[in-house]
This record gives sequence, C-alpha cells and structure tokens, in this order.
Amino acid sequence: MVHRTARIGLRLTRAQRQRCFGLLRSAGDVWACVLEINAWRRRRGDQPAASYQELCRLLSASGPGTFGELDSSGARSVLRRYCDAWFSAAARRKAGHAEVRFPRRRRALMPIRWYHGTFTITGRQLRLPAARGCLPLHVRLDRLVPYPAGTVRSVTLLFDAGRLGIDVTAELPVTTYPHHARPDPDRVAGVDLGIIHPYAAAGLDDGTALLVSGRALRAEHRLHLADTKGRRRATAARAPKPGQRGSRRWRKTRRRARLAETRHRRRTRQALHEATTTLIGWAVDKRIGTLTVGDPRGVLNQNAGRRHNLRLRQWQIGRTLQILQDKAALAGIRVHLVDERGTSSTCPACGKKISKPRGRVMTCQHCQFAGHRDVAAAFTIATRTPGGATTTPAQPCSGVVTHRRAGTHLPGRGSARRDPRRRPPRSAAEGSLGRRRPAPPPVTGRRSPPVVGSRSPTPVDEDPQHDRSQPGQRWWTPH
Ligand SMILES: [Zn+2]
Repeated sequence: MVHRTARIGLRLTRAQRQRCFGLLRSAGDVWACVLEINAWRRRRGDQPAASYQELCRLLSASGPGTFGELDSSGARSVLRRYCDAWFSAAARRKAGHAEVRFPRRRRALMPIRWYHGTFTITGRQLRLPAARGCLPLHVRLDRLVPYPAGTVRSVTLLFDAGRLGIDVTAELPVTTYPHHARPDPDRVAGVDLGIIHPYAAAGLDDGTALLVSGRALRAEHRLHLADTKGRRRATAARAPKPGQRGSRRWRKTRRRARLAETRHRRRTRQALHEATTTLIGWAVDKRIGTLTVGDPRGVLNQNAGRRHNLRLRQWQIGRTLQILQDKAALAGIRVHLVDERGTSSTCPACGKKISKPRGRVMTCQHCQFAGHRDVAAAFTIATRTPGGATTTPAQPCSGVVTHRRAGTHLPGRGSARRDPRRRPPRSAAEGSLGRRRPAPPPVTGRRSPPVVGSRSPTPVDEDPQHDRSQPGQRWWTPH
C-alpha cells in the first residue's frame, strides 16, 4: 500500500472563506501556544512538553473555546505535527547534526489535518468538523476526489501558493499489471537528473532512452525573473521609506507581486509532476522495474557564483526526487539512489575518463563512442545499480531515443516545428487557401519559377529534410 495525496481547490463563499481562515489562524495559535509553553519550561529548566500524549493533556486542560472554531481532532493534528518535528530534530541532533534546531518559528496560518471518521466527502461536498457549539463547515471542492471511495484516509486544509486548498490523502494499493506487462525488477534503467533535461533515462539491456526537455520550465523561470525585476523597477518609487507606513497602493502592489510569485510556483510544480509522469509511463511501457537515479545533491553545497546558484535553486532536486519516488512506488517500480559523481565525464562504452563535453554530445577519444551526453550519463548511472545488473548491458545509446517535453501549460512549450505530430497551422487547414500573399515576381531569364508558398529559396523537392527516398530513415530531428 502507498499513500498518495492530491491537492484540490475549493469553491467558497465569502463566509466559508472567512471560516477557513479562522480555522487556520486558530491552528497557528495552537502552534504558538506550544512554542510558548516550551519556552517557559526551558527558562524554568524543566523538560519540554514534546510527547503527543502530554501535549493532548495540555490541550484538554485548556478547555473548550480556547482556539475558536477549531475542534480537538484538528488541534491534535497540529500537536502531532509539533511532536513529529521535535522528535526528528532531537534524533538528528543526537546523530551529531548540531545545526538542526527544534521548532521555534510561529506561523500565522497552520495546516490542519483531519483523519478518517471526522470528515465526510459526498461527491464534491466536504464536511469538516468544528468545535462543539459551532456548525460543521461545509465546503465545495472544485473537482471530484481522484481516488476511489473508501480509500481516503485524511484531508488537510491549507493555504499554499496563495490559495486555500484541501490535500486529500488516500491509501492505494500498488498498481497491479497483467502478467505479460509487469515491470521486471531485472530490467534496469539509469536516470540522470539535470537542468536542461529534468530527466534523461537509459535502459541498460536494450539501450533505449528517454529525454524529457526542461526548456519550458527554464523559460518559465527566466520570464518570471524578468517579470519580477521589471515590476520591482517600476514600483520601487512607491516603496515606503524605512519607518514609514506603507500606503494602500503599496499594499496592492505587494499583493500583485505575491500573486505572480504563487502562480509561478504552481506552474513549476505542475511541470515537474508532468515530467515525472512521463518518465514513469515510459518505464512502465518498457517494463522497467528498477530505476537507478544519480543523486546530484552534492552540488548544492558549493558556491557556484550568483547565476549558477540561482539556476541550482530553481532546479528543485529534492522535490524532483520526492515526486519521482512517490510515483515510482505507486507504479511498483523500485528506485535506487546512487552517487552520480563523474558520470558526465565517463565514457559509457569503455568506462574511461574523458573530458566533460561542452555541448550535449559526448565523444570518446578512446573508443569512438558518440552519443547524447545526458543519455550517456544515465547509462553509466544504470551500471552503478547496487547488486549489479543481471543482464549483459547493451551498447549505450543504441536504441530508440524518445523525446518528450514537460509543462504543457508553460510559455515556450509549443510543439517542435519539425514534429510530424504537430497540428498544421490554421492557415493551412483544409478548405483554406492560406494566408494571402503577394503575387510571385515575373519570371526572368533561365531561372525556374519560384515555388508558391515556400518561403525558403530551396525548392521543396530538393529540401534534404523532406527527402524520404530511403524508407525508415528519420527525416526530422527532435529536440
Ligand atoms: Zn570510450
């Protein structure tokens, strides 16, 4: 069984919205109370209250009505969150990480979780409990829960990325497959995480590969940065001086900036999920049961200069790995994390050290290997699978390379110009003569008449890209 969580938006009236914020604020109060109590205890030299039972006892001693409309099951989820954070910090400190700190920061709004039995979902209606004497809160979800009824274990009310939402967590069985389509744990693929290609995967035993392009994601980051900078420049004059109270206009400016920021966060998150779905779909299709992922988190602690530091921060490796492990678990695919050091400067065919390629093509001066750099790295990662591969590795980069793009909703994600699956432009739709063009110039001398409709000086029938004389030969290059 695996736990999966889906975020669902809410359709709220103004009153419902206010009640939701009231609940979140009350949960923030619970959190602040615990912090406060433990601060007093520390000053007195007492043991902090960290165990769940003790915190619950304190909560019941506080009496009804202390935390507004928040019911005890919701308040207990905040206590659960606190004691989880406290004990994990204590364990890590004990293991020698002295820099890890106990929870100490107050939050205005705290997510609230309700477990099975305290809430009801009927279609799009969700009923959340409230404190005794208050009416339960009914809210409408903006889509149906994507899990079968009876599997939902908890719902979490939260305010994230500028929107109120509900996280619905369900306990789902691992996907089962018919016998012939089951992922085979002996079929191994290596996965290389990157910025240009969020995922590059290479199958070890047949040399097939998948490249997921992150172009749209990078475009989104770049445009967002340009947009933010532009907005800052335009509104800097309105900013209050230190010590001066911000104007209403300044508050509006801040709000717009926050909206843009949260939209950007939602969009990148969505694109990462799409990229991972593509990878897992490819693996299931190829019956790959083991994914060996190169863990690049070692590079995060180095200072690489201000531009590259930003790029690394936007990359979100930790989140990418989390999403990957989550989706792989549901699909019944094992994930191994291995060290990826040196994989982009090692020849996958002969294993010798070569200089790191500058472009995307890796060539080896020892064995004449040439192939895509990320695919080659993924192949080398696959050979590092713990326990070793049971099958003989194929020739690297010898199979079909599938190209996919992540982020359908992002700018710059149009289908490639040369992609045969691309829809024809609207002007070329059936029954249309196309865009009106000026008449062709009069024919002079021995020159052949120019081909109408072709903007390139090369006549269409001589275009090397459209030469399909040899069957099976690829006549377009995907990116
Ligand atoms: Zn080589």
